[in-house]
Amino acid sequence: MQNVKRTKNRKKYFKLRKRNLWFPIALTVVVSLLSALFLELFISSQYSYVTDMRIRSEYEFVDLAAASYMENSSADADPFGILEKSGRSYVLMDENGKVKEQFGSNTLGDMSYKYEDYYTVSAIEASEIEDVRLFKVWIYNDTENNILVTDHGETDLDIRKIGKEVRKGLYAIFREEDSDSDADLINQELKLPLWMRYDLDNGEQLFVKIAIAINFSDIIYLFLLLFLENLLLVLVIIVMIIYTVSSFLSHRKMTRVFFTDLATKGHNRIWFLLKGDQVLQKRRSAKKSFAVVDLSLVNYRIFCACHSIEEGEDLICRIYDAIKAKISKKELCAHFNDGNYALLLMYEDEGELRNRIGELLKTLENVDTEHTFPFHIGVTFIPPAESGGMFVRRKNVDIETDYNHASAAKASIDDTAGSAIAYFDDKLIEDQRWSETVTEMQQRALDNEEFIVYYQPKYDPRSNELRGAEALIRWQSPEHGFITPYRFIPIFEKNGFITEIDHYMLKHVARDQRRWLDQGYKCVPVSVNVSRAHFIESDLAEQIRDIVDKEGTPHRYIEIELTESAFFDDKNAMIRTISKLKEYGFAVSMDDFGSGYSSLNSLKDMPLDVLKLDAEFFRGETAGTDRGEIVVSEAIKLAKSLNMRTVAEGVEIKEQVDFLADQGCDMIQGYYFAKPMPGTEFESKMKDGIANTDE
Ligand code: C2E
Ligand code: CA
Ligand code: CA
Repeated sequence: MQNVKRTKNRKKYFKLRKRNLWFPIALTVVVSLLSALFLELFISSQYSYVTDMRIRSEYEFVDLAAASYMENSSADADPFGILEKSGRSYVLMDENGKVKEQFGSNTLGDMSYKYEDYYTVSAIEASEIEDVRLFKVWIYNDTENNILVTDHGETDLDIRKIGKEVRKGLYAIFREEDSDSDADLINQELKLPLWMRYDLDNGEQLFVKIAIAINFSDIIYLFLLLFLENLLLVLVIIVMIIYTVSSFLSHRKMTRVFFTDLATKGHNRIWFLLKGDQVLQKRRSAKKSFAVVDLSLVNYRIFCACHSIEEGEDLICRIYDAIKAKISKKELCAHFNDGNYALLLMYEDEGELRNRIGELLKTLENVDTEHTFPFHIGVTFIPPAESGGMFVRRKNVDIETDYNHASAAKASIDDTAGSAIAYFDDKLIEDQRWSETVTEMQQRALDNEEFIVYYQPKYDPRSNELRGAEALIRWQSPEHGFITPYRFIPIFEKNGFITEIDHYMLKHVARDQRRWLDQGYKCVPVSVNVSRAHFIESDLAEQIRDIVDKEGTPHRYIEIELTESAFFDDKNAMIRTISKLKEYGFAVSMDDFGSGYSSLNSLKDMPLDVLKLDAEFFRGETAGTDRGEIVVSEAIKLAKSLNMRTVAEGVEIKEQVDFLADQGCDMIQGYYFAKPMPGTEFESKMKDGIANTDE
């Protein structure tokens, strides 16, 4: 569910980016169109206004002529003298359309182009409005100049044509070199001929040739307006273009900031996740195999502390460049933070990819001539997207999940290991879930005393006498049953809960010992494991003393086991703690001697009492061979000469017991004598005092 949501969010982001860019472009277009439309409407309204004015005044004139005709219809009168005087041609037709009277040439155009409109006329008398009359006029084309057009079935004045005529007239006037003064020019008029029909009351029809006179001073004013309007439009467009370009540039800059890693100036986490999804979702990617890699420089922070942040950042850049040089253009690489990088690689053959990553690791380890750097690399594979023998496009892919898998693989690498590569598999997820379950349950388990102390006896191999024991933890969980320490101790070591556990064990062992002493058992020293996580605490020895003292147990019955790897931490702190423990009367042993790195050096400085030979000596490849025996016998000799007792761990067979007895090993802790057992069972071992082996 979450994946789908995340993918959707990313898609939304992409949409937003597109919208950001299109918005100014769309705005520019809309504003320009609106301005142009407004201009057109404005100009048209100006022409209409002029023509309407003229038609109205012409009508008033014709109306006057018609009224005088109707009043003096006697033959001698010259009813239309007023028209003739003003030079207006006219045609009078009777009811049947027959020409009754005519003045001037009859240039009445096609009668089908008829324009009708209503006008209001006010009869003014003594400068008072007497009557407001609505009248209807019919206008017809003149054959010389067809200004009426039919548009969408309706006849109207062709404003464009009028405009054109006006322009033509203006042009002609301006071109005339021998034109009169400017004042005359302004007084000139453009006359557009039309015919107006007037229906007389007696059924006759009067057609008068009228002229729409357009005054050029009006026109110049109009053109000035037009010019200003155009200028405004151009300005609007320029402003909008500047706005679009600047928002495009700032958007590009923002995107760059958003996707750029500050340290390397390369790509960052957001870019990787977005781009990674895009690459994987491509149709042709379905056939290909990918690998997501989480790559980290170990101890980057420590490097910065030892050198400087600048040097650290320089190193981060060099690593980034080195990775980029090793991958193809189609593959992705990004710097996440600190020493962490993410890669999306392509491969054909898994073995080949593993080699490639190995080589990359080698290159990175030696990115600096003076140091060798350890890297931890986690890898997860994304196989081709196949379903039912067909390649199908990966639709709801989420590279973050794959990156998390790679990170989980990386997290499984032991912190103390040098460079390492880990590959993700399903068991890792299972481990991760188990680790979370354990972490969730730990405190309650401790409060409910679900942890139990088991004791594994240590015997003298010559006399078979009980000499000591090691306390080993077991977890009796109500939900998960009996759990061995291998399944939870490493988790506690990682999450820090181990310190609580060690205190708990120490307290219970001290309490058991006190009880057994009170009950009169012949008690032996019991060793308790103390994890290395404790050694950062400077008062560790005091804490141990106080816990034991609270139970009232003599210190000689408690031994402290320190694991070998702890000796690599702060050596001086370790020496101080061991010395204090010894001062308080606790014996101190080194656990798992010989299991890991050579700890001969620590033996020299640490005032230890007991050396525990690791079980590997008796189980590993060299176990039982001459060389193996030499190492064991020399280790025992070395311990003796340093005044230390020796305990051999994990001894399972009699030959080993005999050999160790011969070499002077002091104690044996192993299945040969006894497995770890509950306290009640251990009580009976104390009672007997002697081991009862099968022989
Ligand atoms: P370790 O301290 O090295 O303990 C010895 C382990 O070897 C024990 O495993 C023991 O049962 C096993 N062992 C002893 N003899 C033989 C043998 O002959 N054959 C075989 N195959 N195994 C033998 P266990 O009890 O499972 O403990 C495992 C590890 O868990 C311990 O290794 C120790 O590192 C850790 N651990 C156990 N209890 C505690 C504890 O109370 N505190 C801390 N910090 N760690 C503990
Ligand atoms: Ca131990
Ligand atoms: Ca051990």
